Amino acid sequence: MLQLEDNYPMNQITTLGIGGLAKKFVVVTTFEELIEAVEYAQGQRLPYLVIGGGSNLLISDEGVDCLVIKNEMTAVVQNDTEITVKSGTPLQELVDYTISHGLADLQKLTGIPGTVGGAVYGNAGAYGQTISDHLTAVSVLNTNNLTTEQLNNSDCLFNYRDSIFKKTHDTIVEVHFQLERGDPHILQQEARDVLSKRLVKYPPGIKCPGSFFKNLVASEIPQEILKNIPQEKIVFGKLPAGALLEEVGAKGQKSDGIEIAPYHANLFINQGSGSAKAFYNLAKAYALKVKEKFGITLEPEVQLINLPPLAK
Ligand SMILES: Cc1cc2nc3c(=O)[nH]c(=O)nc-3n(C[C@H](O)[C@H](O)[C@H](O)COP(=O)(O)OP(=O)(O)OC[C@H]3O[C@@H](n4cnc5c(N)ncnc54)[C@H](O)[C@@H]3O)c2cc1C
Repeated sequence: MLQLEDNYPMNQITTLGIGGLAKKFVVVTTFEELIEAVEYAQGQRLPYLVIGGGSNLLISDEGVDCLVIKNEMTAVVQNDTEITVKSGTPLQELVDYTISHGLADLQKLTGIPGTVGGAVYGNAGAYGQTISDHLTAVSVLNTNNLTTEQLNNSDCLFNYRDSIFKKTHDTIVEVHFQLERGDPHILQQEARDVLSKRLVKYPPGIKCPGSFFKNLVASEIPQEILKNIPQEKIVFGKLPAGALLEEVGAKGQKSDGIEIAPYHANLFINQGSGSAKAFYNLAKAYALKVKEKFGITLEPEVQLINLPPLAK
């Protein structure tokens, strides 16, 4: 039996600690509960939004007029070097599982908050590894017959922090990987090295949604703009959004309870009392300054919920 809640405060479940009320809210832990929740929404003609760990969301202060389905379907199943994981599994749980079972290719994703489903949606990555690198297939919910269907890796149109799911909004149910074998001790050490670097940028308890803007793929920036950007700013083929934001003085700026980290210009932090409006306005103001100075439109990596697109 679904435990539906009315007027659920979304600021309780976003890492940013911001967000108004969800009209209806439910946690699902099994596929059957997911179906029940979707059937409920369909019956009520209510839109629904599936979320995972809430670590990449900026939800408006007005909240969301829909059913929010928080996905807590978890399981990791191994068949030799193949892994099938339910999408509500915390990414860290998957990373830890693979490391301890001597499977490589996900260890550098250690420390990224949220679920496997959320990571696939945004094609999350760090330190040269991306969730889609060794992903073979994604099972999604078919909302017509309420069964699953499989998309292979190329169907998912993965790109830098992008996937087809950002367009279709299909619900990701299970994810399949084909991994390489690796030495657990070496994998663990690699994960530890990554984690110690991450702790400097993301101290425990920080209220943020990760980096706010996407970095830019250097090869996609028009030459006439690229020639005005110092070459040393380009790292691994990417122009960090933080480098551009720093150039327009974003570091350390504060407004209405939101601070841009003094050590990282692409890290917008809720100091405790910030609102979605304040967060949005500060981000928009600095995106505009970047546009004016460099002619580059920054795109948010964070998902804006019930907020207008930033570029408008
Ligand atoms: C401190 C910190 C550090 C971070 N570091 C990184 C990093 O290094 N690299 C990186 O890439 N990201 C990073 N992030 C961002 C974030 O953790 C990732 O984007 C993460 O993968 C989001 O997962 P989630 O489960 O929290 O998704 P949510 O925030 O809950 O949702 C994000 C989007 O995914 C959709 N979604 C979630 N689950 C499903 C599903 N099952 N089916 C369909 N759609 C779904 C939601 O509808 C929403 O649009 C960081 C965030 C924080 C707070």
